[in-house]
Amino acid sequence: MPDSSLILRQVILRAATDARVRRFVDRYGMRLGGERFVAGTTLDDAVGVLRRLNELGLLTNTTLLGEHVTEDQAAREVAAIYERVLERISAEALRTNVALKLTHLGLEFGEEIAYANVARVVGHAAALGNFVRIDMEESAWVDATLRIYRRLREAGHENTGTVLQAYLYRTEADLESLLDLKPNLRLVKGAYLEPESVAYPLKQDVDDAYRRLLERMLVDCSYIGVATHDESLIAHTLDVALREGLGLDRFGFQMLYGVRPGLQLSLARRGYSVLVATPYGPEWYPYLMRRLAERPANLLFVLRNVLKG
Ligand SMILES: Cc1cc2nc3c(=O)[nH]c(=O)nc-3n(C[C@H](O)[C@H](O)[C@H](O)COP(=O)(O)OP(=O)(O)OC[C@H]3O[C@@H](n4cnc5c(N)ncnc54)[C@H](O)[C@@H]3O)c2cc1C
Repeated sequence: MPDSSLILRQVILRAATDARVRRFVDRYGMRLGGERFVAGTTLDDAVGVLRRLNELGLLTNTTLLGEHVTEDQAAREVAAIYERVLERISAEALRTNVALKLTHLGLEFGEEIAYANVARVVGHAAALGNFVRIDMEESAWVDATLRIYRRLREAGHENTGTVLQAYLYRTEADLESLLDLKPNLRLVKGAYLEPESVAYPLKQDVDDAYRRLLERMLVDCSYIGVATHDESLIAHTLDVALREGLGLDRFGFQMLYGVRPGLQLSLARRGYSVLVATPYGPEWYPYLMRRLAERPANLLFVLRNVLKG
């Protein structure tokens, strides 16, 4: 039997595709709570937030929010924007890299198009001494994302990494298939609405899978971004790192802008690498809905803002 928080999560993720919900949230969402999770709608807004986080001793990444682009020209424009983002990061001397989604770069209408666009961004990042992480999206895109990641690495692009999701049954096999690349991976629990045929329905099973993957990745990957706010998994990471004698260059913690900021700072003050994923852009709707679904208590936060007017 799925637990009640899982049911609520599914309800929110399903409601996210309803046109009326979208109209309401598009109109009021930013004011009602979106600002907590999104660093504004423009790059200028984001730069101010990224600088403030860097000054607190936190590393950052940034993402131009958007996904599922359906025109070739639009996908090329997204790649061009990422080139400008990388230039701005360099000019501002920010400790920020880039995380992007392949469906934003055209994956939905062609793997070659997405590959060409991401290779262009990764190449530009290399010239500026920066790094690009390819986020993982719905399970339908996992094969293509892993193929593109492999192709980039085999073409000599070292400054790139991708993401594995613990909730998918397939992920242990995917990890195995990537190990020859000595990959740089981020491990997450998984944020999308997936059927029971592909993903663990119970939170406890997802947490157990995360723990198993974490142990393997800490030892076998060149770097792992432990992307979770789950304190027991963070403590487990530190135990394994100690037991295996891993240097601080082999792993880092990654959290979301607006989520557990106190925990982010306390880990950074203890000397660990903490990266805060800090997206921006006008297309914040699906991102905000995923954040609400992860913790339905966030809905209360939004509703409190509605009542405050
Ligand atoms: C840096 C980063 C990058 C990510 N990239 C991807 C990706 O590429 N693909 C993907 O599918 N998913 C991605 N995710 C999302 C991830 O899959 C989870 O949905 C999300 O991190 C919540 O899971 P958790 O590990 O924090 O654990 P949970 O068990 O969900 O949460 C643990 C605790 O963290 C706090 N918490 C968690 N989420 C929230 C929230 N939204 N608001 C307030 N408190 C919260 C709560 O205190 C909760 O009890 C990413 C997450 C992070 C941190």
